[in-house]
Amino acid sequence: MKSLRRPYSEQRPTDIGGGVWSVPVPIPGNPLGYTLIYAIESPAGPVLVDAGWNHPDAWLALRDGLAATGMDIREVRGVVVTHFHADHAGLAGQVRQESGAWIAMHEADAELVGTMREAEEDAQRTERAGMLRRAGAGAAEIEAVTTAYRPEPPAAPDRTLRDGDMIDIPGRRLRTVWTPGHTPGHVCLHLEDADRLFTGDHVLPGITPHIGVYPYDRTDMDPLGDFLASLEKVAELGPLEALPAHEWIFQDTAERARAIGAHHEEKLTSLMALLAEAGEPLTIWEIASRMTWKRSWDDLPSMLRGMAAAEAAAHLRALEVRGRVRRTAEGDPKEDMVRFAVHS
Ligand SMILES: [Zn+2]
Repeated sequence: MKSLRRPYSEQRPTDIGGGVWSVPVPIPGNPLGYTLIYAIESPAGPVLVDAGWNHPDAWLALRDGLAATGMDIREVRGVVVTHFHADHAGLAGQVRQESGAWIAMHEADAELVGTMREAEEDAQRTERAGMLRRAGAGAAEIEAVTTAYRPEPPAAPDRTLRDGDMIDIPGRRLRTVWTPGHTPGHVCLHLEDADRLFTGDHVLPGITPHIGVYPYDRTDMDPLGDFLASLEKVAELGPLEALPAHEWIFQDTAERARAIGAHHEEKLTSLMALLAEAGEPLTIWEIASRMTWKRSWDDLPSMLRGMAAAEAAAHLRALEVRGRVRRTAEGDPKEDMVRFAVHS
């Protein structure tokens, strides 16, 4: 798809018809630029889809952007959060404080938010360092990733959602479509009275969302497998108009969902070739450093290497679930590093 991405400075609150407005809210210091917040009109006050990054500039953009559409942030009835990430859920708590709105989120992300809010900073760092070491990261990379800035956990929701739940908006039909992958509780929202789908980060027109496993070596989940199934689930809803959380609005979610699925299948195929070529078990770090990324591995800052490793781990886990690769326990028994090889 031709890139229609424009910088935040060129974004404006827009009436996109059918009682729905899009309000761009900046993500300070992030190349993604902005989150598109959607406001759905109702006689009982607007309902927001996502709320934006927790930053004073973002708050002003949201408040003033809603005002420009004739809505008052103090009248917001509820905020449905597509997933717990800071550029989506960050401001939900402040909107609730200002307006008394409810916050709704899928139960799986709500559980994660609960864990994040309780976790001790030091324990989290130690856990992260262990994960990086077992993956084969170097000391400097471990240091950089474990000390990197992390945003505050988002506000706890008042309501939790499950697949198929209707959102509480008088006069509209807005249904929860659970699409795990990018996060375990990511949801899309199907505006059934208008053939539109709020896609969050699940289906974006020009980029694909980060799919990672944290910790890298866990075996009780398969985020990429979930993501591929969620893409198929959305494709089966038909060619709906997509209202994504970043970039631009586009037609035909089904076509784009299938293209993203094909992109990951290609990545799985090249990963199998990489492992076959190596001929010996490799650590997650070795594998990630040999995969193709937007920038060369040598130019990737440690933080992005950590995300690339999580992405590599998600692809390895999906191949393991399919019976194509295995993890090995070879080498020094005292060494707990994880390695992967082709399953013969
Ligand atoms: Zn996200």
